[in-house]
Amino acid sequence: MTTAVAEPTGSYRAQFEEMPPAALRRLQERRLRSQLAYVWDRSPFYRQKFTTAGITSKDVRTIEDLAKLPFTTKDELRASQLAEPPLGAHAAASMDDVVRVHASSGTTGRPSYIGVTKHDAATWAESVARAYYSQGVRPNSILALGFGIGFFVGGVAVQAACEAIGATVVPVGVGASDRLVSAFDDLGADQLTCTPSYARYLAEFVRTKLGRDPRELGVKRIFLGAEPGGGVPAVRAQLEELWGARVSESIGNGDVLPVYAGDCEERTGAHFQAPDLVIVEVIDPDTGRALSLEEPEIHGELVFTHIDRECVPLVRFRSADLAVVRTEPCPCGRTGPRLRIIGRTDDLLIVRGVNVWPSAVRDVITSLRPLTTGEFEILLRSPPPLIDGPLSLRVELGDGAPDDVDAIGRRVTEELRDRLIVAAEVEMVPPESLPRFEMKARLIRKLYEEG
Ligand SMILES: [Zn+2]
Repeated sequence: MTTAVAEPTGSYRAQFEEMPPAALRRLQERRLRSQLAYVWDRSPFYRQKFTTAGITSKDVRTIEDLAKLPFTTKDELRASQLAEPPLGAHAAASMDDVVRVHASSGTTGRPSYIGVTKHDAATWAESVARAYYSQGVRPNSILALGFGIGFFVGGVAVQAACEAIGATVVPVGVGASDRLVSAFDDLGADQLTCTPSYARYLAEFVRTKLGRDPRELGVKRIFLGAEPGGGVPAVRAQLEELWGARVSESIGNGDVLPVYAGDCEERTGAHFQAPDLVIVEVIDPDTGRALSLEEPEIHGELVFTHIDRECVPLVRFRSADLAVVRTEPCPCGRTGPRLRIIGRTDDLLIVRGVNVWPSAVRDVITSLRPLTTGEFEILLRSPPPLIDGPLSLRVELGDGAPDDVDAIGRRVTEELRDRLIVAAEVEMVPPESLPRFEMKARLIRKLYEEG
């Protein structure tokens, strides 16, 4: 898989964003055939999967043929990685060719790892650059980067992308709000990229800790990402009011591309901007049937097939992201469908930009027996997946626990932080005090439904 990646020119309005449909389809189908042949040769996971389904890579020639292929789920990737560490049997490149490994918190206590070759890193930067360019990053921009660089797949890629555009990047990350403010005061940064919850937190910090109006900081544009809130009109309106800045969003998925869609100036949904790297399908999440992209508005789950990926190419990957997809023409001229993520098909929670599966929390709590009984409940004060603030938990003390209840609570908090990278607020409760369920453990309690 070696396709040329454009040299940086400052303009990241790619030809693929405006390509006539017929030409784009030819390009996608050519790359699809070549990617599937590559996957067949190099990924034991996929060879097995295709063989079980009774097909070979050669049976798929067109985009319609994709329907012959089985879906790939996150659970399968996790199992594949546990069985064949470090990257899994689905990986198609050796560690020698991998230049970077990202870790994201997985559905169990073990992080899931995503490898990137030199070519993958270049395509990541390219697709992120398109989305940041369409939102207004230019060579004369000074961008304060308020994403966690470490565990968030997008952090490094956003930095690389904005540098490629020629903008000045000030990588600050999260947890250093003072330094972020200095980037505006001392360096004249005029743009900010971070999660919606951090943008809100930072405004609050500036007001209460510094006694200043966030509007004085001179932030002109805020690019939201890594959490779904950036597409919600009320969230945007609130942030625009707080900051006096124009707010837009980009969308990505750690297993697919850190960013594959971004708002244009019209802000009527993030344009899908990576049709040369990945094919997107929209399916009915209940039946798995692919929905036609000819309709003006489609609701469904996004499914992705890489067509230019070396390390971990995925075939019909069910993202579990539920989206509204709009296809009517946009005045900006970009032809890619516009997406808004409206929820998840699974029980994923997103705590300040970090993915947390309740099953992973259970693994951590259970591993702390006999300090705990293993029983706990996650308290949600608003509908998931987005959790603003620390994850709130009630955890049962175990019978074998020593008397210092506060110390046990701290231990649970630390384990959650170390193993899942999540900030938690833990209340220890007596043994046998949480409700038991006969059929299936209920890990989440929706306080907002209890009135
Ligand atoms: Zn547009």
